[in-house]
Amino acid sequence: MNSKKIISVLLVVALVMSIFALTSCKKEEDVLTVYTNAEFPPFEYLADNKPVGVDMQIAQAIADELGVKLVIKNVKFDTILTSISSGKGDLGIAGITVTPERAESVNFSENYITSTQYMVIKNDSEIKTIEDLAGLKIGVQLGTTGDFIISDEISGTEDEETGEHVKGVLEGTGATVTQYNSAADAAVNMNSGKVDVVVIDKLPAEIVAGQYDNFKAIELVYEDGSKTDESYAVAVAKGNDELLATVNKVIKRLVADGTIDKWVVEHTTKSSNG
Ligand code: GLN
Repeated sequence: MNSKKIISVLLVVALVMSIFALTSCKKEEDVLTVYTNAEFPPFEYLADNKPVGVDMQIAQAIADELGVKLVIKNVKFDTILTSISSGKGDLGIAGITVTPERAESVNFSENYITSTQYMVIKNDSEIKTIEDLAGLKIGVQLGTTGDFIISDEISGTEDEETGEHVKGVLEGTGATVTQYNSAADAAVNMNSGKVDVVVIDKLPAEIVAGQYDNFKAIELVYEDGSKTDESYAVAVAKGNDELLATVNKVIKRLVADGTIDKWVVEHTTKSSNG
């Protein structure tokens, strides 16, 4: 072999080796990418700038079950489901309430916790029911179930079968809704008088109310005694059935052995003091 030939053989060997090196570095399938919105304690909140909380522990348990590294993306709540349905992320875990509309774009795992909507009000407030919010300025978190309920009660809805307008309990009362990026943001605006009340899920409501001396959180009930009723689940892209099965296996285990309840207590304490 002349030296030219040796050089080209070496070049080919080097090229093949670098291709191998590149492909083995690019271990995309060895990562679980979870989308969340770390503004929803105790389920997800920031500690030392890192998303932590009940949902992040669930995410870690799923990554461990799969034997892969967990990557968390902290994004706005109302963008999470699109990131999952488009395949950008593997799982959405963000205290996401299962709703029929959302189930059209993603698949949901087994439920791992139940919740209801709460109202954050001033300590001396007379508000007892949602009907008492007539004419008030209501703060919510954009794209959440609290936002949907209040917006529907203000604007009314359409009967799915007849197409007829169904009047909301706040419709025509002058009540308005303002959408914030988090319950904490909404509470800041309640403190400065821009909104009168904040509607958000139970535990975040209790935690945010606890951060102000003159705020308290009460359950959102209707005059007739009815309440909201929600369940949280993990969002997975439609068709990703293998991953969904693993998620369900982990969730069933964590619910059955009381681990989720334990994490809720732990993170409620931590995020309330933080
Ligand atoms: N459970 C509510 C929802 O799904 C709020 C979730 C959140 O703000 N992270 O809309």
